[in-house]
Amino acid sequence: MDNPGKFYITTPIYYVNARPHIGHTYTTVVCDAVARRQRMMGLDTWFLTGTDEHGQKIERSAAAAGCSPREFVDKIAGEFRALWDRMKITYDDFIRTTEPRHMRGVQALFMRLQERGYIYKGSYSGQYCVFDELYVDAVGPGAPCPECGRPTETVHEENYFFKLSAMEDRLLKYYAEHPDFIRPETRRNEVVAFVRSGLRDLSVSRTSFKWGIPVPNDPQHVIYVWLDALANYMTAIGFGSENPKDQEKLHRYWPADVHMIGKEIVRFHCVYWPAFLLAADLPLPKSIIAHGWLLFEESKMSKSRGNIVRSETVLDTLGGDALRYFLLREIVFGQDGSFSFDALVARFNSDLANGLGNLASRTLSMIARYFDGEVPYPSPSERTPADEAIAKLGEQTIADFHAQFGQFQFSRALETAWALVAAVNKYIVENEPWAVAERDDQDSRARLATILYTSAEALRIVTALTHPVIPDATARIWTQLGLGEIGQVDLRSLAWGQLQLGTKLGPIEAVFPRADKSTIERMQQMEQQRAADAKQEALPPSAQPAGTDAQPGQPVTQAAASPSPSAPAPVADSKITIDDFLKVELRVGEIKVAEKVKGADKLLRMEVDIGTEVRQIVAGIAKAYEPEKLVGRKVVIVANLQPRKLRGLESNGMIVAASLGDDGQPVLAGFLEDVPVGAKLK
Ligand SMILES: [Zn+2]
Repeated sequence: MDNPGKFYITTPIYYVNARPHIGHTYTTVVCDAVARRQRMMGLDTWFLTGTDEHGQKIERSAAAAGCSPREFVDKIAGEFRALWDRMKITYDDFIRTTEPRHMRGVQALFMRLQERGYIYKGSYSGQYCVFDELYVDAVGPGAPCPECGRPTETVHEENYFFKLSAMEDRLLKYYAEHPDFIRPETRRNEVVAFVRSGLRDLSVSRTSFKWGIPVPNDPQHVIYVWLDALANYMTAIGFGSENPKDQEKLHRYWPADVHMIGKEIVRFHCVYWPAFLLAADLPLPKSIIAHGWLLFEESKMSKSRGNIVRSETVLDTLGGDALRYFLLREIVFGQDGSFSFDALVARFNSDLANGLGNLASRTLSMIARYFDGEVPYPSPSERTPADEAIAKLGEQTIADFHAQFGQFQFSRALETAWALVAAVNKYIVENEPWAVAERDDQDSRARLATILYTSAEALRIVTALTHPVIPDATARIWTQLGLGEIGQVDLRSLAWGQLQLGTKLGPIEAVFPRADKSTIERMQQMEQQRAADAKQEALPPSAQPAGTDAQPGQPVTQAAASPSPSAPAPVADSKITIDDFLKVELRVGEIKVAEKVKGADKLLRMEVDIGTEVRQIVAGIAKAYEPEKLVGRKVVIVANLQPRKLRGLESNGMIVAASLGDDGQPVLAGFLEDVPVGAKLK
């Protein structure tokens, strides 16, 4: 079934719960560089990326943003696509899991598993992590998720289950027989250990929300987001379609050659996905390659730390090539790497501006000046050991670069290419072509031709090899070399000495103007501005600044677990004494009445019995809770809060809620045991 002349590579499909940031860019750039190179190696290449758009988190984020899930996913998916287009990512297809072609394919896969007896109906009751969309081993409402630490929710559901437990031996056998299936080795070992420790059946449907793909013939259930998402690698190339053209495409490209992923989703790709495929009797992908995390100045980028870097900042200052080069050169693929503006600018200046940029501009401008813009004829009688050494290094560079890049050692491959750049820049300095040009004799003329031919040929080789990594600049250097369209180059036959004598150069321009200190400052300012804008726009209701009647339309809430906005700002040492804590009167209350507030779609008005009295409390939880389901529920109330007015209604107290996920979805605090109304918490 496999077609050796093809190459199919995928990025993970990105979850549209958040906007694209530099971590997404890293994975995508790696795949793009690999895809571009495989095309230049003559392979029939297919490069897939896309967006993962279903699940409860999306449903809730959309509610928090005050729009429909459809509007929400359209917007974020559009941002991903626009960024990839701007970065000249050469994806062949962009799949969205809300497309009919995907939904049909996922249902086909579900039925295939069902027909083969791997899916059965059962029931589950326990803790669920909305953030991970996973049932987890945790006890009690609000108990932290063992995966991510966020509070879990208690659910009781009838679900469809996948017989993952039956797949243990087959998976272990597969890993053993295919040592390259999971890379790098560390990830492979983790996966094998995980499977050896025993697998439990996996719930593959949900009834607690609607934003998903319905289970065939049982539309009360939607299909588990990970089963939905993973199937994209096949549905995008035609799985589930009856159309002969789609089937032809599926046969042509499946199994995928590389699923490129971040290490945090190894289990889904290396355990669940192959288990589904084995059970469905479908061929498995050839390799799953997990890269490390991209840290910002050594710490993990996260919304809560506020240190997420957006690619646009680098694109607006140094350009796409600078970012692509940095990511592939600076980070040892497979390990965690660190991003910083200082390191980016340092790399840019040393390798691109002073390295390749300098080699290109001095070589090309001297050919323009001394040889009227035509590649000169090197003299065979005038070859020195220095010329020979560069030619030899050029040949060696081609061989080493191919071997290293082919092994996903991008950093080493680029190091290899830049060793040639450095050697040629040194060669030019030592051979002083500008001085040779001063001497007006026949021998000197031949010597000058040899030096410049050697430099230009080395430049051509580096340019061709690194085109997949820095496509823009190399395309421009290629044109300046008078060689036309760089995408047409066949890298398989690249060798020293192919630069045609007499080639007429194109117009010459600098490709990498040097960056200075102000570039770093500009990038930092842009990031701060973007962070501030995003905060303004994307704050969940529970974290919005206090609204008053003077600001109609502002989503406001008193349901947040965060301190009341009117509280004094925390000082540097924010630990408080027990006395401070005891000032807050927390009580168990029971909701007696709950109703929506007219004209405020996020607010609920509630009457809460706190034992001594019934209080009116207004909270911004309407998007997360149906009012009728809240009646009778026991909640935790901050009872001694100063009353305030929301939409003209007096709110007398605050309901305590967890702020869940990146969007701060409110989840009400509660008790596992039965507690009397009015009980004090301390
Ligand atoms: Zn979790």
